[in-house]
Amino acid sequence: MSDKALINFQVSNMTCASCVARVEKALMADDAVESASVNLATESVQITYSDHQISENGLLSLLENAGYPGTPVRSAREDQQEQRARNIRSYKSRFLIAAVLTLPVVVLSMGAGLSDALSNWLSTARGLKISWIIQWLLTTLVMLWPGNSLIRTGWKNLIKRRPDMNSLVAIGTTAAWTYSVVATFFTEVLPTESRAVYFEASAVIISLVLLGRYFEARAKGQTGAAVEKLLALQAPNALVETDGGLHEMPIDDIQPGFIVHVRPGESVPADGLVIRGSSFVNESMITGEPIPVEKVENSKVTGGTLNGSGLLVVSVTQVGADSVLAQIVRLVQEAQGSRLPIQDLVNVITAWFVPAILGIALVTFGAWLFFAESGSLTFALVTSVAVLIIACPCAMGLATPTSIMVGTGRAAEMGVLFQQGDSLQTLQSVKTLAMDKTGTLTEGHPELVAVQLAPEFNDNDVLSLVASLEQASEHPVAKSIVAAAKARKLNMPECSDFNATAGMGVSGDVEGKRVLVGADRFLTSQGIQWDSMTAYVEQFAGKGHTPILVSIDGVCAGVLSVADPIKANAKDIVQKLQAMDVRVAMLTGDNRLAAQHVANELGIDEVVAEVLPDGKVESIKTYQDNGDKVAFVGDGMNDAPALATADVGMAIGTGTDIAIESSDVVLLSGDLSGVANAIAISKHTMRNIKQNLFWAFAYNILLIPVAAGLLYPFTGQLLSPKLAAAAMAFSSIFVLLNALRLRWIKAQ
Ligand code: ADP
Ligand code: MG
Repeated sequence: MSDKALINFQVSNMTCASCVARVEKALMADDAVESASVNLATESVQITYSDHQISENGLLSLLENAGYPGTPVRSAREDQQEQRARNIRSYKSRFLIAAVLTLPVVVLSMGAGLSDALSNWLSTARGLKISWIIQWLLTTLVMLWPGNSLIRTGWKNLIKRRPDMNSLVAIGTTAAWTYSVVATFFTEVLPTESRAVYFEASAVIISLVLLGRYFEARAKGQTGAAVEKLLALQAPNALVETDGGLHEMPIDDIQPGFIVHVRPGESVPADGLVIRGSSFVNESMITGEPIPVEKVENSKVTGGTLNGSGLLVVSVTQVGADSVLAQIVRLVQEAQGSRLPIQDLVNVITAWFVPAILGIALVTFGAWLFFAESGSLTFALVTSVAVLIIACPCAMGLATPTSIMVGTGRAAEMGVLFQQGDSLQTLQSVKTLAMDKTGTLTEGHPELVAVQLAPEFNDNDVLSLVASLEQASEHPVAKSIVAAAKARKLNMPECSDFNATAGMGVSGDVEGKRVLVGADRFLTSQGIQWDSMTAYVEQFAGKGHTPILVSIDGVCAGVLSVADPIKANAKDIVQKLQAMDVRVAMLTGDNRLAAQHVANELGIDEVVAEVLPDGKVESIKTYQDNGDKVAFVGDGMNDAPALATADVGMAIGTGTDIAIESSDVVLLSGDLSGVANAIAISKHTMRNIKQNLFWAFAYNILLIPVAAGLLYPFTGQLLSPKLAAAAMAFSSIFVLLNALRLRWIKAQ
């Protein structure tokens, strides 16, 4: 059997897009690791590995050796929050220290313009020398103290021949610093016109990079807000019924089988079954559906939902990691940490980017040294440092993960769970959306509305036989027949030799009679004549109802008419989807006439009816034939093959049943607006990612020639290293703010 294990580590030192590829490579180098996927936004890595071949500590040492030490994520909530808060604090204090040390350097370097006294003092050779020494002292402090880890990581990675964005900052600031040290202490070495210091550039760059990291850390905290909101739903205590009365207990001590009381207005502490009482429960935090749901005896309730005005006594069924809430949190976290295909492209580019920039900086330096007439060394230095600084690819590393985090988080709030990261990217390009009819476009709670029998049969006898059989079936049609029999208080004898054929019907022996119930084609396939009922079958189907034929001992006994109302907003959603340029098709095993009736009502012109589950698969493949992406929306029970075949399989959750394995997207509420929401989120998120990439790449690339001084000969324009640092910080912050906009995607 499979010995695959999944683990998450929090990883430190990852500052840029190129680190992502490196961490993944370091892990994948070990045969025991099947996949490793880094999320830069949460600074974590998700590893699938064989736990027979490597231990947790083994994985940790792989990370350690690669220069990115990791820590296991135990309780996701506390660790993430703590780590985040620690990060924010650390960058904040480092920035503040750097800023305090940098300010006097800036004042001294700009001295001449600030005050006459200062300017007079600085104009003396002695004053200037002292000013330079003070600047040297403070800048050196900035580099060694708050900027230490930045510069050290940068050089370390350069020496290991895997330069990253820290390397660009490190080379840039160290170059400016070294030049200035020479100017300060070995002045004679330099030609007169080149005797200047650039301490302030180094100090300001480091301060700004730290400020950028501080903002980043804060914004990253906000991108995880969706999961925190979900985690906050968990009630800390539960009121437990014991022999000795009611006791308040911490939630961690609750076990399945415990009886808990949920008072009006309280949140449900755990998943369970109502054993006494009734109430309306607000499940919107889980399903996104705003209307409270009625709960009576035997109803399922979900931990984290909010009880209305009744008292519910609940027998606990699931707690802890098994609970619906915990599963949702896990899915959301996985989706948030997932990698889209587009990320591979980004990684390839960044892997080339840093070395290319180092090359450009070198060429810039050489070219100015060679061509510029006076002050050439200064010029060469200023331009090449500016190139190094402007090109930091930190915004590129953030572009996709932040959008994915915010987008999937917002999706979760609307009850849309992306189980498969790819689907977030694929869904936006879907051309055809195929929908199952029963339970997807219709309520899925059909009712038996008419019974038409051959003369020799009696209503209640037939219904009692049929219901005995249908008791064993999960199909909504079966449930409607059983419900009708119960309403008539008919007894339902034992059945034997029960057999269900998907998309056809059921058969079995009841009271010595051979009974078949199902679609007309089911009877045909069993060689049973039903011509006598043709008129009724057409009459019922013409109204959009499902005709169900019954045969007893090889004779067609009659036809039952089952009506399943169309969902209230189905038409509206179909129109919205069509407005998004999505072709909507309906696939159903139901009678052709009935299907056509429903399709007409909804404005769907593409109908495939009377197909078996594998017929749905065939239809989806046909749609895919011309290369279009196809999504399928179904109820997950008998539609698993279709869900798995479609490029994106969307399962409509029945209530809170989220463990739908074959689907890529789970819609927690039965409401169809989830379909439109999922597509809208995919479109918005992908557009957001593209904007981010544009800003991160295009903008850096555009400014590189300016930084290199290419404009100087024509316009006299130069990009100072300080401005470059500010611009670089801006591009990261822009990317984050842009991603955060996804929090406000409107529900459809
Ligand atoms: P859908 O695509 O509408 O969900 P299914 O593939 O589940 O439909 O079923 C197709 C048809 O097969 C139903 O419309 C019904 O006629 C028949 N059928 C399936 N299961 C049963 C059952 N348990 N009892 C009666 N009829 C059934
Ligand atoms: Mg179905």
